[in-house]
Amino acid sequence: MRYDLREFCTTSTPKNPQLHHLELEARQKMVHKSCSTMKVRCFIWRALMNRIPVANNLLCRGITVQNSLCQLCNNEQESVDHLLVNCSYTKCAMDWIYKWCGIQLHQVLNIGDLIHYAANWGNCPKKRTILTSILYCSICCIWLERNNRLFKNKKVPPTKLADEIITLSYTWCNYRSKYGCGTWASWGCSLFNHSY
Ligand SMILES: [Zn+2]
Repeated sequence: MRYDLREFCTTSTPKNPQLHHLELEARQKMVHKSCSTMKVRCFIWRALMNRIPVANNLLCRGITVQNSLCQLCNNEQESVDHLLVNCSYTKCAMDWIYKWCGIQLHQVLNIGDLIHYAANWGNCPKKRTILTSILYCSICCIWLERNNRLFKNKKVPPTKLADEIITLSYTWCNYRSKYGCGTWASWGCSLFNHSY
């Protein structure tokens, strides 16, 4: 499926067009270009707009789901913020990623907080782009893990998912960043201790 970011900015029906436009514009600015593809950025945008088909959203549309619990922890209702930020499985995988990046995220309670954090992190645009790419990659990998469990009955532990995020984000940054991202050895050790 092909996504167009502009399409998501214009297809919703606002209650207050002026306020809605401002909110859309603010959210659109938060989705940084990063080293990710347009498809990934559109997925991030849809998550920000609460428009990905998690169980809660399907139920709101009157669509029957067999199990409305989170596919990752099987413990709470599946919402966008729960699945991508607050789920115990997601937190376990992301703790590894945050440690590897050398960052601490205590105030992140929802997907908007996470994207806002990435968009405003640090003073170096190069490193901010790398971090943003890693966080976008993490969000996509969590969504993929959720779908693998739901549709393919395949699952990996959170530590393995963190390894996959580190590998995939290196590929993204290595091939798509105009700054480069160093060697695989330096990437795998301590991410932001060397310059790009
Ligand atoms: Zn969960």
